[in-house]
Amino acid sequence: MLVRFSSILILLAALTACGQQASSPNKASGVSAAGEPAATNFRWKLVTTWPKNYPGLGTAPEQFATLVERMSSGRLKIKVYGDGQLVPAMEVFDAVSRGTTEMGHGAAYYWKGKIPASVFFTAVPFGLNAQEMNAWLYHGGGMELWRETYKPFNLIPMAGGNTGVQMAGWFNREINSVADLKGLKMRIPGLGGEVITRVGGEAVTIPGSELYTALQTGVIDATEWVGPYNDQAFGFHQIAKYYYYPGWHETGSSLEFIINTEAWNTLPEDLQAIVEVAARAVNQDMLDEYTARNNASLVQLVDEHGVQVRRLPDDVLIELHRASAEVLTELAASDALAQRAYDSQQAFLSQVSEYHKISEEAYYQTRRLLSKTSITKDDD
Ligand code: CA
Repeated sequence: MLVRFSSILILLAALTACGQQASSPNKASGVSAAGEPAATNFRWKLVTTWPKNYPGLGTAPEQFATLVERMSSGRLKIKVYGDGQLVPAMEVFDAVSRGTTEMGHGAAYYWKGKIPASVFFTAVPFGLNAQEMNAWLYHGGGMELWRETYKPFNLIPMAGGNTGVQMAGWFNREINSVADLKGLKMRIPGLGGEVITRVGGEAVTIPGSELYTALQTGVIDATEWVGPYNDQAFGFHQIAKYYYYPGWHETGSSLEFIINTEAWNTLPEDLQAIVEVAARAVNQDMLDEYTARNNASLVQLVDEHGVQVRRLPDDVLIELHRASAEVLTELAASDALAQRAYDSQQAFLSQVSEYHKISEEAYYQTRRLLSKTSITKDDD
């Protein structure tokens, strides 16, 4: 019923958008017979997988909506709904696919149950960093693969922010060796979760809104989320003892905007361009904001809240990497699109990392050489 009703609404919206030029051959582009842009206003809904106005992740769609409205002089207004306000977080993909809402914002790897290839458009363990991910998407064939992957679901994807390298997460159990991973109950989505299961732990996927309670009550032993800026806002430091790094499982996670294809097709070309440009601006801005804020939050977590920041031991990282390679190879073999995305991303990583060895990496090593000061004690 709901599906049919919303389809009718979209159809009505499309007809309204075409207005009296319904018979015009240019109707699909929203351009009148005289060549002037149609003066139609659009009112869209955007559902997200984040709590309303959640810092970083949740403000990206808000910023996006503001930018689009300003750039279009109010011709396209987008109302943003947080997790549960219109649909629950884990139903965002289906809601936009069905056309219940025109847009969504979240992370592609949440949908790996129905789309194995989706993980490659967010993050895979020991994968691309933010700079490399954007390069793969925009100049390495990644976006074309993403669009092809979402096409059967009636969706157009766009990159919607990048977190940079995340933290390994908050733990109420010390991880001193591979043996400590056994029985670890951890909220960790995507392939990282499969890796944790592979090394003897148990991975669970819980929406952000339920995480705090799950960790507090011992339903889970650990959770990953993002990095100091977001994690501090969540208050994880109040309920977990140890804050481990590095985020081996999410080395530059890309978020996503998804747009219902029929809704997209009702937009005139200039509004489509505005949406694309606003998404790209927000995509970059999120990384900029995390880069600017993460360390200030880390300092507060350590100095004011006594959080113990710890590096995962080498043998744990090596074991996680071994299991990750297994999981990735198996996933790729199970699905043709996943195989293509895996091959494309691995090929891109191997070529881009060669230059990064003598550029980014070499520069970080130089910084380390010149400055021995560090916020953590166990890191030399
Ligand atoms: Ca994460």
